[in-house]
Amino acid sequence: MPKIELKHVTKRFGKFVAVDDLNMVIEDRSFVTLLGPSGCGKTTTLRMIAGLETPTEGEITINDRIVFSSEKGIDISADKRDVGFLFQNYALWPHMTVYKNIAFGLENLKWSKEDIKQRVEELLAMLKISEFSARYPSELSGGQQQRVAIARTLATGPKALFMDEPLSNLDAKLRMEMRTELKRLHRETDSTFVYVTHDQLEAMTLSSRVCLMKNGYMQQYAPPLEVYRKPANTFTADFVGSPNINLIKGEVTKLNPITLALPGSINLVFKPLETIGLSVGQKIILGLRPEHVAITEGPSMAEATVLSSLPSGMETIVQLRMGESYLHSVVFGDLDFDLEKQVGLSFASGKSNLFDEQSTVNLGQGLLSRA
Ligand code: ATP
Repeated sequence: MPKIELKHVTKRFGKFVAVDDLNMVIEDRSFVTLLGPSGCGKTTTLRMIAGLETPTEGEITINDRIVFSSEKGIDISADKRDVGFLFQNYALWPHMTVYKNIAFGLENLKWSKEDIKQRVEELLAMLKISEFSARYPSELSGGQQQRVAIARTLATGPKALFMDEPLSNLDAKLRMEMRTELKRLHRETDSTFVYVTHDQLEAMTLSSRVCLMKNGYMQQYAPPLEVYRKPANTFTADFVGSPNINLIKGEVTKLNPITLALPGSINLVFKPLETIGLSVGQKIILGLRPEHVAITEGPSMAEATVLSSLPSGMETIVQLRMGESYLHSVVFGDLDFDLEKQVGLSFASGKSNLFDEQSTVNLGQGLLSRA
């Protein structure tokens, strides 16, 4: 089936390695997001797939056709890769109406007037901009212009659509609206979307798979909720989720049962849900999502002090000190907590991840209980 495949793709700018030995398969009709901090190599990766940047090494196939191979000396130009682009600066042609902007690519392809009319009307309807057909770009809002840009990109029916931070110029409300539109569009067009963003929320909500990158290396490539639930390492754990995951340093003090000592005489038993290799004295990091740290009136696993309480109506973010560690809890509902209050904590079963401190790699998930 048609898909995009990268094999050992590397891009060097002089001595600097921007993308390092990247291997990934983008399945047909998937919505893949390249996510990571500024400078991690997202744009370079997208541009290499699109044919706008030449890899230093490796092979890229689109629809089972090799479009780049350093070994075989193949480098198919961008316009012959059957892909569409949508970039941050989606400049529309200011002197053309919305209709003309969308029709332009089709006219270049020498489509008949009737076919063009049919296709443009279909796109105007799909993007809900039919009423703006006769307007000029300057007479449209940012979000409407964005939709025209998307329609223009989709007009020729590319099998793959590449987008680089296309929503970053829009305000928060419009961004939210456009996210919904993009998701709908992805379903309706049946094409493969590859999307670059540094916004974890955008990646989490839009994509079928997230490729998380750091310093040119792929850190994890998995569906968003898998990254959230079982991050590959502390970097990916920390990159997704807001408020951030709690990462608490500790040490393995016993193996049967596995006992973790956290700073300030907090001892917890960790019952792994999978086989996990640990040794006594091993330094670990316990990862706990804030919503899995419950403040409880009943039996608790540890005691803590409330340092701050930020109620927003639907939920309250509570900062706590547990022993010598600091952590956040998200409590659902319109609750508030007194500062300096002593509270009991319980940690949701099976939702904790244990990382090796030195390698930062996820060792496995497990259930916590009081030691
Ligand atoms: P951002 O979110 O800031 O756009 P990014 O993850 O998309 O970042 P890239 O644009 O892919 O990052 O750049 C990856 C690295 O390669 C950066 O450190 C960048 O400075 C470097 N780089 C990109 N293009 C060039 C170039 N033409 N020459 C030299 N270095 C480059």
